[in-house]
Amino acid sequence: MNDILKKISGAKRIAIAGHVRPDGDCIGSCMAMYNYILNNYHIGIVNVFLEFVPEKFSYIDHVEDVITDYSCEADYDLFISLDCGDTERLGQAYKYFEAAKDTINIDHHISNTKFAAINHVEPESSSTCETLYGLLDEKKLDLSVATALYTGIVHDTGVFKHSNTGKRTMEIAGSLLEYGVNNSAIIDESFYQKTYLQNQLLGRCLIESMLVLDGKCIVSVIRKEMLDFYGATSKDTDGIIDQLRVTSGVEVAMLVIENDYQVYKVSMRSNDLVDVSKIAVYFGGGGHIKAAGCTICGTAHDVMNNILKLVDAQLREHHGC
Ligand code: 5GP
Ligand code: MN
Repeated sequence: MNDILKKISGAKRIAIAGHVRPDGDCIGSCMAMYNYILNNYHIGIVNVFLEFVPEKFSYIDHVEDVITDYSCEADYDLFISLDCGDTERLGQAYKYFEAAKDTINIDHHISNTKFAAINHVEPESSSTCETLYGLLDEKKLDLSVATALYTGIVHDTGVFKHSNTGKRTMEIAGSLLEYGVNNSAIIDESFYQKTYLQNQLLGRCLIESMLVLDGKCIVSVIRKEMLDFYGATSKDTDGIIDQLRVTSGVEVAMLVIENDYQVYKVSMRSNDLVDVSKIAVYFGGGGHIKAAGCTICGTAHDVMNNILKLVDAQLREHHGC
């Protein structure tokens, strides 16, 4: 038994949490851990905290147990953070981390700050779900855990197509199918399916996008007025950045979303030459070499200019000028 499973089996009160604005890998890894603990240990209290869980993930077992209200004051024996690069991104769950007797951090972000007592960070892993699979006892998995893990792998690899998809990723996904995972439904319903509203936002973003830096960078800005007009939130923008990235000739795609007046969430994707995690970290964010993000305050124009300068510098470095 590894150190992490030993800590889990010795705890009486466990809290599990992921990062703010949870994505498929964050929800998948938290729910896989939750279901694994429920199935295999007799632990007094296990709570899983996430800001929200979109309806499309309702096929994951016990997702209805997720606590989205952080008002309760509690101190846990063990706090397990999944898919979260730093304590700031724990959001409101930070108070449970701070009060916990022991802490574990399981992640795959290159920018992870190793903030817990036990840090298991695998930057070469496609997803936190891939990393988590390696930590759990294969003989104790079941369909509920396999479904959650498969979901996270599918989402963080963009359905096995991003460069983070390795031999091990495919082998793990293959093993998960043996538990009876409904792969087609997971991929279609949780990844590809979009609401009408999401499609409308996607359309607007593509029409209003700009090619800059000699066509090497594509940028699209979603202003708060646009979100308000459609009655949308930043949750409805999933997938837009992926469509921007596959524009031919583009090295870097950037989606800038105004969540509050002059507060911009920046998502970046790189195809090959640029390390966008370096740029995100420079602005206080983080992520991976080819997918990263940060939040910047100011005017949209300043936000774009500041980031584009760093993208340009990396592109020039690459071309030796
Ligand atoms: P996205 O652009 O999809 O929000 O995020 C891409 C990747 O960068 C994800 O792995 C996400 O966890 C990470 N990321 C996005 N925004 C931030 C941020 O503000 N801080 C940190 N540390 N990571 C971020
Ligand atoms: Mn992830």
